[in-house]
Amino acid sequence: MNKLFARQLEKAKTAAGETDLDALRELIVTAYEQSDRDRRRTDRSISLMVEELDQLNRSLERQVADRTATLREREAQLQEQNIRIDAALNNMSQGLAMFDSSARMVICSKPYMTMYGLPPDLIKPGITVSELLRYRLKTGTFAGDPDAYTETLLASTAKGYAVSNIVELPDGRTILVLNHPMANGGWVATHEDITERRRAEKKIAHMARHDSLTDLPNRVLFQERLSEALVDVHRGKRLAVLYLDLDHFKGVNDTLGHLIGDELLKVVAGRLRQCLRDTDTVARFGGDEFAIIQAAAENPRDTAALAARICQELSAPYELTGHAVMVDVSIGIAIAPGDGTEPVELIKNADMALYGAKADGRGTYRFFEPAMDARMKSRRALDLTLRKALAEGQFELHYQPLLNLTDNRITCCEALVRWNHPERGLIQPAEFIPAAEELGLIVPLGEWVMRKACADAATWPDDIKVAVNLSPIQVMSANLMPVVIGALAAAGLPASRLELEITESVLMQNTDATLAALHRLRELGVKISMDDFGTGYSSLSYLRKFPFDKLKIDRCFISGLAEGDDSLAIVRAVTSMARSLGMITTAEGVETEQQLEHVRALGCTEVQGYFISHPKTLEEISRMLVSYSPKQAKTA
Ligand code: C2E
Ligand code: MG
Ligand code: MG
Repeated sequence: MNKLFARQLEKAKTAAGETDLDALRELIVTAYEQSDRDRRRTDRSISLMVEELDQLNRSLERQVADRTATLREREAQLQEQNIRIDAALNNMSQGLAMFDSSARMVICSKPYMTMYGLPPDLIKPGITVSELLRYRLKTGTFAGDPDAYTETLLASTAKGYAVSNIVELPDGRTILVLNHPMANGGWVATHEDITERRRAEKKIAHMARHDSLTDLPNRVLFQERLSEALVDVHRGKRLAVLYLDLDHFKGVNDTLGHLIGDELLKVVAGRLRQCLRDTDTVARFGGDEFAIIQAAAENPRDTAALAARICQELSAPYELTGHAVMVDVSIGIAIAPGDGTEPVELIKNADMALYGAKADGRGTYRFFEPAMDARMKSRRALDLTLRKALAEGQFELHYQPLLNLTDNRITCCEALVRWNHPERGLIQPAEFIPAAEELGLIVPLGEWVMRKACADAATWPDDIKVAVNLSPIQVMSANLMPVVIGALAAAGLPASRLELEITESVLMQNTDATLAALHRLRELGVKISMDDFGTGYSSLSYLRKFPFDKLKIDRCFISGLAEGDDSLAIVRAVTSMARSLGMITTAEGVETEQQLEHVRALGCTEVQGYFISHPKTLEEISRMLVSYSPKQAKTA
């Protein structure tokens, strides 16, 4: 200011060197005004600056607040995520551990620690895999060399390979370990306890190849073992396949029940195992069928000895929950390579030999012979021929009358089937009924007989019954009842005019179920006769088991009457017992007048035989039924 004032004083000086006060005042006023203007300008720019700073400040504050909020949000999200990851890691059944590129632990889950019983104070981030494994080695949850294990692991993860191992722990657990490499050179390991899964898988695999009742190999495993064993046969060795079937097992099952049947099969399996060497295989094919591979059966005599031993062992009595049971076994044998070199072929041939053993009387064994194959083929051919015969209507029924001895009247005609063969002419039932029974064809054939016999009988006088023979298989078949009802209904024949003839073998084979079926038939009003009595076990006890309407004494006793053997006593005993039980007694095969009088004297109430009439065609019998008079009996 002093400098300014000195300059103003200088300026206000006149030329004479005096101070022009007016000029000075003017100068000062101008200077003040200028200064005032400057100050005001400065003030304005300061306030502008303050305002700008203020704005800047506010915006910064806003930004900071925004960022803080975002960070907080992120932090919350991270926390949330961490909780979720923790929850996931610690609650999943697998254990998880993460390691860095120097094989140090980064993190691990609780299940991982629990799985191996690892203490939290030891298992901290930074612990090396080797240290960890050494601890596990000490506590028995690891078997092996920790360093070698680590090295292998590091080598494979370094190459970026995922490594999976199934580890059997010393304590019996099985753990599936998966090591996934990570980008930074470390890896993530998941450990899963698969002990139960493994056990279940093993069990399923076992079940698929074993029989659940006896735990013996089943057919699948048997065939596999046979295929393996046949490799040795191709190298010049021999083996034997034995096919076994228990005789009368069905009877045990039906009379004593399935539980006892099952128990029997288990004991049989045990006895079979005892008979074999470790290198042999015994399998159950189902039901009462078993099969054996006798390895290295160099000499057929050894196989025969084994078969004989099995027959002997299995026929020894069984003590099954209070029941003494006896069964026999039949065995068919095929030897490789002679009888085949393929599993299916050997089993088939052994089965065929078994069939031969059964036909030879059961309880025995047979080696396969090519002739058996030929017999089987001819059976198959017969099967086809019989089916064709049935389809083409080549069967016909003949009828043989039964004469009541009280009033000498025909009471009933027995239907006897014949096969009218296009080339061979009439074939008797003895030639084809056994085959039809074996082939199962007796069921449709029997149904045809039943329908035809009922339809024919419906054309006869009302007081004449018709008798139809039933095979055991038919009696056991579930469709017997519907067949009988259907045949009666279709013919319009009252049930009381139908008699069904069964043989003793029916009662021997299947007591409970058979008796139930027979009772149901009898409730319908159908009569039941015991046919060929005396040819089976001739057990009078059968007569008490079921209230038969009629007892037909087999013709061998009638022909024996003249020879003075036991027949007389037997026929007398049987007739008197039958009479006391209210049954009709029919003498079969009466061929002479003498026999007729004899059986009449012995108390038989009915006769059937050539002396009365041979079996006749429907036309012939129909005529006879109208014209028959007792006198004719003697001349027939
Ligand atoms: P079966 O039921 O005992 O029938 C009586 C058999 O004895 C008949 O033989 C008959 O011709 C014969 N016969 C009758 N009287 C005399 C006689 O005085 N002397 C002699 N020596 N024989 C006599 P066929 O017709 O050959 O029948 C044999 C067996 O075939 C029958 O014996 C029966 O068990 C069975 N059969 C016949 N037809 C059928 C059928 O439709 N179904 C079933 N399942 N079996 C049948
Ligand atoms: Mg008969
Ligand atoms: Mg008979």
